[in-house]
Amino acid sequence: MGLYSEFKRYVAQTSPEPLGFIPAGAEGIYILDESGERYIDLISGISVSNLGHGQKEVQNAINSQVNRYLHSMVYGEHAQQPQVAFAKRLVEALPENLEQVYFVSTGSEAIEGAMKLAKRVTGRQRVMAIRGGYHGNTHATLSLMDNPYYTQAYRPFVPGIRFMEFEDYDDIYLIDNDTACVVMETIQGAMGYRVPSKEYVQAIRMRCTEVGALLILDEIQAGLGRSGRLWGYEHMEIVPDILCLAKALGGGLPLGAFISSRDHMEKLTHDPVLGHITTFGGHPVCCAAGLAAFDVLLENKYWETAEEKGRQFSVLEKHPAVSHLSGIGLMLALNLNDRSKVFPLIEACHENKLLTDGFLHNPEAIRIAPPLTITDEEIEVSCAILMTS
Ligand code: PLP
Repeated sequence: MGLYSEFKRYVAQTSPEPLGFIPAGAEGIYILDESGERYIDLISGISVSNLGHGQKEVQNAINSQVNRYLHSMVYGEHAQQPQVAFAKRLVEALPENLEQVYFVSTGSEAIEGAMKLAKRVTGRQRVMAIRGGYHGNTHATLSLMDNPYYTQAYRPFVPGIRFMEFEDYDDIYLIDNDTACVVMETIQGAMGYRVPSKEYVQAIRMRCTEVGALLILDEIQAGLGRSGRLWGYEHMEIVPDILCLAKALGGGLPLGAFISSRDHMEKLTHDPVLGHITTFGGHPVCCAAGLAAFDVLLENKYWETAEEKGRQFSVLEKHPAVSHLSGIGLMLALNLNDRSKVFPLIEACHENKLLTDGFLHNPEAIRIAPPLTITDEEIEVSCAILMTS
């Protein structure tokens, strides 16, 4: 049996027709197949590989931590140097109310932790979410999703969740004195990188402050430079009460975080103690990799060129099947004028050695989210492939 057949036979599947690509190596913006053919990675594993593949600093940090120790204790009991160093560096790059980091393993867990924290801080149970959002696939995070196709089979959901329409200013008044928190993506990923207006996010921020609800921003995709700012909320000129990160946070290894004030975080230490427990959260190897990746990001300020690089993809609007390009920074959606053309175009791109994919809640668009390190020439080559696919 070949690897693909064994993959289908032994590894649990999530779709009848997986992409089935067999990666054998990766460097820069390329992923290599078994025969050494290079494919342009235009999706970064859904916004994970922000620095491209094979970053030497990240590899060295991983290797050196692997040689030191792997796991000593569940999160929060031992003072682990890679965790402390990364938390300190993150806090130094954030506004003063975001001053303590709780490391977890995934984005879903970061959102779960943030929701639990908001309940502890406010003593309230109601959680508001925005239609079109994606916050993960655990029960609580699926409860924040309003797409019945993906959620219906998993009822009952976590109680106390209510939805607001995207950009509906009247719905903002659903946030009231019973609301523990609003959970929202700074830029909606699964909707095809739908960017809310600054005024709308500011109005939500103001309403949360007015009624004492916490604003949880999910920057699991938008954070760490991808939007054209280091943090996506900078576009909106607001600051969240809790910031959630994952995806690129671990430099390619599994790492998530929810970040808030010391006063808030302190709630997790009593009544009950151990307010959130995780065995592998903040794993030292992942934190070492994340810190190295964050340092490379800060040193090179890749977010500063993301918007200009994003604009270069607008030549794709000349493609006969394309209606327009949308999004922000290097989180872009190539919107097609006919949804039936989406998967054929993705397949044609794969045949032409360019990896891309669609969006969970937007059947009309193709994802363009390359490593932030992509060069102008590489963008030109990518666009040429897309134009002829
Ligand atoms: N939030 C957003 C915006 C995401 O895009 C994702 C994953 O795609 C998540 C949360 C969940 O992250 P994870 O798959 O690591 O649980």
